[in-house]
Amino acid sequence: MAGEADAPVGRRQFLSDAAAGTAGLVAASNMGSTAQADQTARQQNAGPQAAPSDVALRVKALESILVEKGMVDPATIDAVIETYESKIGPRNGARVIAKAWVDAAYRTRLLSDGTAAIAELGYGGAQGEHMVVVENTPAIHNLVVCTLCSCYPWPVLGLPPTWYKSAPYRSRAVIDPRGVLREFGVTLADDVQVRVWDSTAEIRYLVLPERPPGTERMTEEQLAALVTRDAMVGVAKASARGAAA
Ligand code: FE
Repeated sequence: MAGEADAPVGRRQFLSDAAAGTAGLVAASNMGSTAQADQTARQQNAGPQAAPSDVALRVKALESILVEKGMVDPATIDAVIETYESKIGPRNGARVIAKAWVDAAYRTRLLSDGTAAIAELGYGGAQGEHMVVVENTPAIHNLVVCTLCSCYPWPVLGLPPTWYKSAPYRSRAVIDPRGVLREFGVTLADDVQVRVWDSTAEIRYLVLPERPPGTERMTEEQLAALVTRDAMVGVAKASARGAAA
């Protein structure tokens, strides 16, 4: 899981590729070549982060029918997706974290009522109605998962990465959180307690990472640049080197 980039594939391109890949699968199966079908399937599902193509196809089919019947405008759907892909994202959460690092009173409010404190910065709404912020300390490391599906705090983190929605992450984050963390490059000492938070439709979690050492002179804006999405999910630590670390 560690280091796997989320390829910026456009949504329509993704759906179109999924359709093409499945067509290839059918063609290969019709030729009676299991090996060829397997190979096509592997190409289509390259990497553990790839979403199942049947889901993409179902989405495409549903969208086509709704558009055909004039019930939705594709431009509206694209605008909503675009909003969550590029306008609402982890930079919002990073601003929340940076403020908590420099403003002790805000940090206290954030930990006691996450939803209200996050709303102070103007973030809230769908999938973020009930936010709980959990703080990492030298003795406690928090990790967020949704074992049931993919519940995620959209207003502060945007859309969930594919690995967050994957079955291996959802199960292993609970069964073997230290192993999962190691794969993300986080090795914790034995005496550090790991707390795993299972998101639900009602409650979404945000991790307040530890402020990295050596950042005492940084401004709030500079600090925000150090906060990564992964650190706010708990699969990484915030680093003085920021996102490149
Ligand atoms: Fe969920």
